[in-house]
Amino acid sequence: MRRIVIATGNPKKVEELRAILAEAMGDGGPEVLGLADLPGADHLTEPEEHHDERGSFEGNARLKAVGYAAQTGLPCLADDSGLEVDSLGGRPGVISSHYSTGGVETGLSREERDGANNRKLLEDLAGVPLERRTARFVCVMALAMPGDPPKVVLTSRGEFEGRIGLPEAEAGGRAELVVPRGEGGFGYDPLLLLPDPETRSGAELLPEEKNRLSHRGKAARAMVERIGAMLAER
Ligand code: IMP
Repeated sequence: MRRIVIATGNPKKVEELRAILAEAMGDGGPEVLGLADLPGADHLTEPEEHHDERGSFEGNARLKAVGYAAQTGLPCLADDSGLEVDSLGGRPGVISSHYSTGGVETGLSREERDGANNRKLLEDLAGVPLERRTARFVCVMALAMPGDPPKVVLTSRGEFEGRIGLPEAEAGGRAELVVPRGEGGFGYDPLLLLPDPETRSGAELLPEEKNRLSHRGKAARAMVERIGAMLAER
């Protein structure tokens, strides 16, 4: 496997995964490409995910990996990820990226979506005390090989536990628990505080710290291990 494609249109994820894979695979690893690096990138169509009760992180990761392996003819690593909040019964889950619109794609930019999703999450948790705001990011990865038919050969999963901080009006003067906070990361990072006694948000972590702790970092390192074992078996 000389080249591997990170099958996501999210440039922040490509950046995170490139760094994680480079560190885990060292110099001898395959060349890591984003979809945008491929000739004809404009002609690739995004496989349709299930952003409703039919969907699961694993199912969506498999759909994307197989869909892009079929179109590119290259090994494709796809991830599906999202936030599970315990007091919301695991929501937003597979609709994390379109939570404010109930899972429906409305053509908003990524930044607009992130802002609207974060506002909705804080509204939905209004009045819920900190000890019941436990949540985690989940990431499932799938590696698909091209072929006839292309198929998923490996999957992996990682989780990143925390709690959703409080809006200023509910924090009772405890500034260290107030969210949104921080400039780094993306998505819900400014809302997720690391587990007690830490009070930094995901958006306050340095990129290398986030990669070490994150759901995506854990899933990617597990995947690298499995790729190594698979190649050793051949
Ligand atoms: P996906 O691109 O379908 O995997 O959607 C993932 C969505 O989950 C993103 O749009 C974010 O809202 C959220 N998410 C996933 N990973 C992270 C993360 O590392 N930080 C913050 N939000 C995340």
